[in-house]
Amino acid sequence: MHYIPYGRQRITQRDIDMVVKTLQSDFLTQGPRVPEFETKVAAFCRAEYALAVNSATSALHIGCLALGLQEGDWLWTTPNTFVASANCGLYCGAQVDFVDIDPRTYNLCPKALAVKLEVAKSKNTVPKIVVVVHFGGEPCDMTEIQRLAQQYHFRIIEDASHAIGACYKDTPIGACEFSDITVFSFHPVKIITTGEGGMALTNQRDLAQTMEMLRSHGITRDKEKISAFAGPWYYEQQILGFNYRLTDLQAALGISQLEDLLDNINRRQALAQRYDLLLNDLPLILPYRAAHARSSLHLYVVLLDLAQMKRSYEAIFDSFRAQEIGVNLHYIPVHTQPYYQKLGFKKGDFPVAEDYASRAITLPLYPELSLEAQDRVVEVLHQAIEP
Ligand SMILES: *Cc1c(COP(=O)(O)O)cnc(C)c1O
Repeated sequence: MHYIPYGRQRITQRDIDMVVKTLQSDFLTQGPRVPEFETKVAAFCRAEYALAVNSATSALHIGCLALGLQEGDWLWTTPNTFVASANCGLYCGAQVDFVDIDPRTYNLCPKALAVKLEVAKSKNTVPKIVVVVHFGGEPCDMTEIQRLAQQYHFRIIEDASHAIGACYKDTPIGACEFSDITVFSFHPVKIITTGEGGMALTNQRDLAQTMEMLRSHGITRDKEKISAFAGPWYYEQQILGFNYRLTDLQAALGISQLEDLLDNINRRQALAQRYDLLLNDLPLILPYRAAHARSSLHLYVVLLDLAQMKRSYEAIFDSFRAQEIGVNLHYIPVHTQPYYQKLGFKKGDFPVAEDYASRAITLPLYPELSLEAQDRVVEVLHQAIEP
């Protein structure tokens, strides 16, 4: 019996050939592949600027810095995300807070956001940045979040680590039509991969320029930006940046992966629809998909109706693991992590996210999941939750 993970990359012979070709070329890093990858992703997403970096975490960090986040500021995000969506605020010395989730989409709830903003306004603690996460690839209610951003004057970062290839009201995620910056992850479990890698997209030239400097030590060679151009060897460090660059080897893989992006999403959607049918009669809540959006189906999460089940959450989880099926929980609410509890958060602070996490299970879903493997997952789920 082979192990079925919850997510897995799909690597083709073309991917391998592209990486090998770059390995044999003059540039392993800082060559032609990175700008080519950026141009292709920007065109695909209909964004002006795209900056490749070594992870989504780095993209979130330089995105927050470019938006001016600093000590004394607030960053808000959803508790139902990977810790990186919140940590980027702390990297900048800002304070982090959370907004509870919508029980149907599991995304940050715009109604809860509106209520919290009204309270924050009276205390003068309106956030500088709200990081929204398109959880599992299902787009957030961006129209409403953008309306609130205009009303309360905060900036929006879309953490679209799950959502390259998704659409919201006919706009590709990444177009930044409803936000300042959008961030993608190319970690192997995500929709396309570069091993490690990420990207920050924006339509604002100043943000793109600042992020470009932050990605590479805060250095610029742009004649327009430097004080006194001395010669072709000349560069200036103007701000404190990092080495967050992606390599050409990784970009070559990314360029090739991009060609299969829509095919991968179609496969994910077909498998998800098959899960919908096969799980229809069980006491579960299946993933919501809005009619006006196209989810990239990064995750297929089912919510257990534990009252109707003999077994506990842990026991159901264990029965998958015992059958070599790598189910998972996305996510342990960030505010309940020990590090965040030390900052003052506690269990009970965001009850919708906590209730969700007490009964959510991510089932395996990836482009090359075979129908036999999917059947095995469904069978184990049937057995595990029989009433
Ligand atoms: C994976 C993930 C990240 C971090 O991505 P890396 O590329 O591994 O840094 C951030 N946010 C979300 C929602 C993610 O799923």
